Amino acid sequence: MSSTRFQALSELHERKAVRNEIPGNRVSEYFGNNVFYYHKMREYLTDDAYDKLMECINSGARIDRQTADHVAAAMKEWSIQKGVTHYTHWFQPLTGTTAEKHDSFFKPLSDGRALEKFDGTMLVQQEPDASSFPSGGLRNTFEARGYTLWDPTSPAFIVGNTLCIPTIFISYTGHALDNKMPLLKALDSVDKAATAVCQYFDKEVNKVSVTLGWEQEYFLIDTSLHNARPDIAMTGRALFGARPAKGQQLEDHYFGSIPERVMAFMQDFEYESHLLGIPVTTRHNEVAPNQFELAPMFEEANLANDHNQLVMDVLAKTARKHNFHILLHEKPFEGVNGSGKHNNWALSTNTGVNLLKPGKNPKSNMQFLTFFVNTVAAIHENADVLRASIASVGNDHRLGANEAPPAIMSAFLGGHLSRMLDDLEKNIKAGKMTPEDKTDLKLNIGKLPQALLDNTDRNRTSPFAFTGNKFEFRAVGSSANCANAMIVLNTIVANRLIQFKKDVDVRINKGDDKDEAILKELQRLIKISKPIRFEGNGYGDEWVKEAAKRGLSNFKDTPSALKIWKNKDVHKMFEALNVLTHEEIHARYEIEVEAYVRKREIEARVTADIAVNHILPAAIDYQTKLIDNVIGLKEIFSAAESKNLSRTQTDLIKQISIEINALKDALDKMNTERTKAAKLDIEKQAEAFSNKIKPLMDAARDAADNLELITEDESWPLPKMRELLFTR
Ligand code: ADP
Ligand code: MG
Repeated sequence: MSSTRFQALSELHERKAVRNEIPGNRVSEYFGNNVFYYHKMREYLTDDAYDKLMECINSGARIDRQTADHVAAAMKEWSIQKGVTHYTHWFQPLTGTTAEKHDSFFKPLSDGRALEKFDGTMLVQQEPDASSFPSGGLRNTFEARGYTLWDPTSPAFIVGNTLCIPTIFISYTGHALDNKMPLLKALDSVDKAATAVCQYFDKEVNKVSVTLGWEQEYFLIDTSLHNARPDIAMTGRALFGARPAKGQQLEDHYFGSIPERVMAFMQDFEYESHLLGIPVTTRHNEVAPNQFELAPMFEEANLANDHNQLVMDVLAKTARKHNFHILLHEKPFEGVNGSGKHNNWALSTNTGVNLLKPGKNPKSNMQFLTFFVNTVAAIHENADVLRASIASVGNDHRLGANEAPPAIMSAFLGGHLSRMLDDLEKNIKAGKMTPEDKTDLKLNIGKLPQALLDNTDRNRTSPFAFTGNKFEFRAVGSSANCANAMIVLNTIVANRLIQFKKDVDVRINKGDDKDEAILKELQRLIKISKPIRFEGNGYGDEWVKEAAKRGLSNFKDTPSALKIWKNKDVHKMFEALNVLTHEEIHARYEIEVEAYVRKREIEARVTADIAVNHILPAAIDYQTKLIDNVIGLKEIFSAAESKNLSRTQTDLIKQISIEINALKDALDKMNTERTKAAKLDIEKQAEAFSNKIKPLMDAARDAADNLELITEDESWPLPKMRELLFTR
């Protein structure tokens, strides 16, 4: 009998919900207690220092040494009062996670005394010895220095007894080695481009911010079961496991009552998040068993992204406390839904207007339509880059798996807006417009909010859907850093808006009035971008055919999706907007391809290890037991009789041999292919893993899963899918 699996199960049955000691029930009393917000800074800073800091934050100017010293002193004072002993520059290297290196405030003096020191230089810049982070060749090892630089737009916060200072991470040569720096640059470029376009409608607008509301899906499994599954522990997903009879077909988990143990975890998690100023507000069961979702109130995109990075950390830590393990992988279990991280995206002006929310009158609706149509056109122009921004080894299992958006990028607008765009396309006449034409059009445009009031049509199958006052990018993977998607989305929208402004101005210079120029340009964009609009079922096979007819790309795996990063025009766009240099693009491309290979390599090795060390021995043991039984029957009964009596056993013995051989053949072929792949360059290796090795892993799994179905339960060494999915 396999001890690990049964030990894990019996441990699990002992578990009770961990009691929470969460003070009070008013979140407002402790929300943000561990964050050094600007309003708190005010208490510690002189008016002069505070004003200077705000000025720098708003203009993006460099913060002088004296102001930095003041801020550092304030941070130290505030955090020491809260029991903090260490500080860290918190950054987001290209591994996709966050990194931190803690230093103590405490400094010994030569005369035996000691003091707590933290000044402006320590706040503004650090040089972590972080030469092991991926740099895609941007840092030679002899010049391995990387610098972290304070991002004053995201407030410092406390985790445990450490003050965490959000920073960007750059190389000695100034190249971005992280996700935050290009994100800030992309946000800046969309700000400039959108502000310029807003001038057509409202001269008061001088800043446009991106708002991001992410929704985080995840699975929870019991720690003991997790520990008894080497595949999940090493790769984040189950590489083996026959589908349980009951999956999600009854849809009884979605929005169902939250199990007690899970609820205790969620409350604890929310408390920790609220202390960190993360405005999580929503929690519910998701579609798959043991799958859940949480969502915060949306925030400015840079802060929202920092918060998502932090949340993934808080989720993992809190889960451990409750004897759970959190799975952020996009597809931990075959046969049930995977997990995503919907990125809800909109643009918001300093005057308090959401540019993607239909307005109250024709003028504000013209503005809405301008941003709406340009966004759709941007998706059409750069669908391939958008696809690349969400490519990852985990997401390859999810996209197009009949439960998640397909790998084909398209935009869903809803019936009302689709009809409105169709009307605009038809009704804007070529040539000079009469005042009546314009009035008619404007009246039509003015009707928009009324029409949208009852807009309840939603399309869950679309990767990029308009949901009334924002777009929802649903193809983002659950483990992703939102920055990847946000860098691309905001850059391509900025690029589109800049072009729009140019084109409208050309029309105005040729004699069109402003409204006419805007309307005609919108009409042109509506026409061009039509192929990207899709209101139907994104899961259907018909869509795959239809999309191909429309000339839309369908990159099924990461290696092919990433290739767009080699396109010269893409480089030009990112360079022109000052978001990424071609060196940075190249480096990021290499890092991502390499990450793909390394992750698949680990999966392949773990597949082989588990097959050889766990599954084959269990199957062979059981087969031996059957053989003993057959021999025993032969001893007791006559030859003819025993042959008949042992029919089932002999069949099983044969079947086990067939599956064992199939399993071993797949493993052998996998080994051969891996040896061949190892000699190739990294791009070709990625292709080999996707096209050759991955299918062999699947074949190995099929054979192993068949063995699971015919081997006695007692000798099966790994916790089964039903145990992973249905025990909590
Ligand atoms: P769903 O039906 O997809 O669950 P919700 O209405 O619950 O949609 O909203 C999902 C997310 O959208 C929330 O995180 C919310 O804060 C966010 N959201 C709402 N308005 C905006 C906006 N203007 N910009 C960005 N995100 C937004
Ligand atoms: Mg959603």
